[in-house]
Amino acid sequence: MSKQHHSFQAEVAQLLHLVTHSLYSNKEIFLRELVSNASDACDKLRFEALNDASLYEDAPNLEVRVSFDKDQRTITIQDNGIGMSAQEAIDNLGTIAKSGTRDFLSRLSSEQKADATEQGQLIGQFGVGFYSGFIVADKITVESRRAGLKPEEGVRWTSGGAGDFEVETITRPERGTAVTLHLRGDADEYLNAWKLKSVIGKYSDHISLPILMEKEEWKEAEKEGEPGAMVKTGEWEAVNKAKALWARPKKDISTEEYEEFYKAISHDFEKPLTWSHNRVEGNTEYTQLLYIPAKAPFDLYTRDKHAGIKLYVKRVFIMDDAEALMPGYLRFVKGVIDSSDLPLNVSRELLQESRDVRLIRDGSVKRVLGMLEDLAKHDKHEASTDADGVTDVVSDEDKAKEGKYSQFYAEFGAVLKEGLGEDFANRERIARLLRFASTTGDTASVSLADYKARMKEGQEAIYYITAETLAAARNSPQLEVFKKKGIEVLLMTDRVDEWALGYLQDFDGTPLQSVAKGAVDLGKLQDEAEKKAFDEAAETFKPLLAKLKEALKDKAEDVRVTTRLVDSPACLVVKDGDMSNQLARLLKQAGQ
Ligand code: ADP
Ligand code: MG
Repeated sequence: MSKQHHSFQAEVAQLLHLVTHSLYSNKEIFLRELVSNASDACDKLRFEALNDASLYEDAPNLEVRVSFDKDQRTITIQDNGIGMSAQEAIDNLGTIAKSGTRDFLSRLSSEQKADATEQGQLIGQFGVGFYSGFIVADKITVESRRAGLKPEEGVRWTSGGAGDFEVETITRPERGTAVTLHLRGDADEYLNAWKLKSVIGKYSDHISLPILMEKEEWKEAEKEGEPGAMVKTGEWEAVNKAKALWARPKKDISTEEYEEFYKAISHDFEKPLTWSHNRVEGNTEYTQLLYIPAKAPFDLYTRDKHAGIKLYVKRVFIMDDAEALMPGYLRFVKGVIDSSDLPLNVSRELLQESRDVRLIRDGSVKRVLGMLEDLAKHDKHEASTDADGVTDVVSDEDKAKEGKYSQFYAEFGAVLKEGLGEDFANRERIARLLRFASTTGDTASVSLADYKARMKEGQEAIYYITAETLAAARNSPQLEVFKKKGIEVLLMTDRVDEWALGYLQDFDGTPLQSVAKGAVDLGKLQDEAEKKAFDEAAETFKPLLAKLKEALKDKAEDVRVTTRLVDSPACLVVKDGDMSNQLARLLKQAGQ
């Protein structure tokens, strides 16, 4: 094939523009992205070779080499992984395949208000992948040959990162890919072994393949009076630990290493809120390293949002987004699960049916709920001094957890609620983790247990109201009688509340009751005089009610005297068991 010119897909051009204009303050991530691609390519080769060992050709040791050339001003990241055919290079490096990335881009450009730094944060969170090379390079050359193809079927891909790229056929004896970055004038700092090593150490220590760099040594100048220099020795050495992080003993892993690993697998700039790392033995053996992020990703609610769990079998990478390992309502969890028992050739279909997978999933859900319970427990530490004047001492570790649950809940609370409908077995635990605003407090901070503990003498239900906004909930005439009697009512404004609460008939033996449904029976909360007044009113207004009923017969099913109003003359309610006004409005909005 002679040289072919291709244009980038419009989205790629857009992404490239964003990359070069908003990531300058975070240049070094290019190395993380390119090394991670090299490592992915080796994982893919290992996986395909499970069925065809000849793909290893004569180079069974998978590795990544990073080198630089001061005179040419280039950095090269080379792997002996799966490689690309010419067509694959055109497809993979010229278009954006993932629908999520395209959605993200259109959202980003519609949010004109975001300035470059904010965009940088967002893109970094998303992970720009291969194109991040253009942060430091004004030209990138990729030479590759796919494992199993002939040496003459190699490909060279070149682009200056503007609108187009070139592709030509080359002969390439080595399998795999070499990405060469021709550095921009302001990226000199990367032409330095020490700098490259430190960035690799920061981002890629956990990568289980060796990342090699050529050793350098100091050489005195030949002539006296001239400076010496570092020279390459031709010997390569690993510059990362080259051991999967989760396979190392917990006590040997620092907080920083855990945090960097999280950033590497999640593309998040921020530290995670918390994590849990365990080796589970029993009916099935596996290692889990699960993280709770501090910030919700932009696509948390898109329909095809997958779980963030990477599945490994005995250190061999099997798949990303293993949705069978984490239920939908915990889709925000990121991490790795490495099973010792699943077969290496496990497919997504097989995963759905496997008993081991079920056990792993149950165990992982328990672990996540456990982490959340722990954060919830330490969300607020009230200084408590007991009768003997002894003040509780809060450990530093627990003190560090303060406020984290509130932060988690603000980001992911609405997603967690989906669990009421999705995870019957853990419903009670999930219900305990929920927080609501109420007529006594503004923020979502009241748990059902708090509410119960504050219930009035004689109160038999947990009362709640659903509305579109807090203000609408708070000003609803349906709350009048509750206000008068000083009864707390939970205010629910999340879209999922109505649906999710439908699955929670009671909490810890106390029924939940919407104040907008049926005849609110305040039971023992009503005194004798009020009951009498009500009965009298019902009698007096009988003829009027009959007339109203007749006049409204197409619009209202019933008209009755009520005790729920104090100041307002009338309000609408729905029958017990019917859709609430709020849900009806929602469905109408959705075009149902
Ligand atoms: P992602 O890694 O998230 O898929 P990237 O932008 O980093 O996205 O890479 C795009 C695609 O280019 C990869 O999915 C892969 O198919 C291909 N690719 C990139 N680097 C390599 C490499 N070193 N070897 C083989 N394929 C690669
Ligand atoms: Mg990538």
